[in-house]
Amino acid sequence: MLLEVRDLRVEFRTRDGIAKAVNGVGCHVDAGETLAVLGESGSGKSVTAQAVMGILDTPPGRITGGEVLFRGRDLLRLKEDERRRVRGAEMAMVFQDALSSLNPVLPVGDQLGEMFVVHRGMSRRDARARAVELMDRVRIPAARERVGQYPHQFSGGMRQRIMIAMALALEPALIIADEPTTALDVTVQAQVMDLLAELRREYRMGLVLITHDLGVVADVADRIAVMYAGRVVETAPVHDVYEAPAHPYTRGLLESVPRLDLKGRELHAIRGLPPSLTDIPPGCAFHPRCPLARDVCRTDEPPLHEVSETRGSACHFWRECLDG
Ligand code: SF4
Ligand code: MG
Repeated sequence: MLLEVRDLRVEFRTRDGIAKAVNGVGCHVDAGETLAVLGESGSGKSVTAQAVMGILDTPPGRITGGEVLFRGRDLLRLKEDERRRVRGAEMAMVFQDALSSLNPVLPVGDQLGEMFVVHRGMSRRDARARAVELMDRVRIPAARERVGQYPHQFSGGMRQRIMIAMALALEPALIIADEPTTALDVTVQAQVMDLLAELRREYRMGLVLITHDLGVVADVADRIAVMYAGRVVETAPVHDVYEAPAHPYTRGLLESVPRLDLKGRELHAIRGLPPSLTDIPPGCAFHPRCPLARDVCRTDEPPLHEVSETRGSACHFWRECLDG
């Protein structure tokens, strides 16, 4: 197992009180595998990723419990300099917004090259040559001519490729991509997603793909973890989920996605809104929105039931859900 997150908890201090952004998340990623983490915004996907990467803004965010085992070591117990070595060299992150993640006043080649200078002790000249290679690898046309250009001289899609190149630079074992294509238009989204999937195969990396878009998941992910109110509510091989979800929230997400095979059928968005993280409903956090909810759901928090060896569902009535 490459990465295993156990019972991770993160809180934020806000004006409205303590926001419980992550409430006991558990999940794992095997070497070379793609895990899609799915959920509406505010479900705790990004905060979980930031806690795993060790880049959570602290304060106001605080990790209050859990373990993040990466190749067997608990990252939450490493010193900051050890942590920094892991970040970049062993695991790297691709963010949604390349423009604010890149330095606007530094040529992209220097930013890419910096990885090799800092982590590999390369000369600036060698590092720049490596930067050109990387830009080629992520298929930026005319890399040699463009290596000295600044981020604003690239299109959104090309900038996202530069972010991917940066994450790939040190050939990490794991990449976490947080909504990597959300800011791009639809055709460019597909190209960037294909590139990411292809590079993952080629470099044999684990990939965690955070998204609110179930449409992109089916093609690239092996497994899926669905998050709601800071918990994983369903985890399963991706095809099982498409066949029959074992959690009403997953079902709701599936029914709100346009699918070719369901063409002409009405789209159902899930009624209601996700809860405020300062005021998570008791029992099952999804109960105010759930069509299957009954009394026990309002009082008893469902554990993650074992649906099969490879599947879990945090729903008291997962069998009923599975039967549709
Ligand atoms: Fe719905 Fe109850 Fe299952 Fe929660 S535990 S998802 S409220 S049926
Ligand atoms: Mg997010």
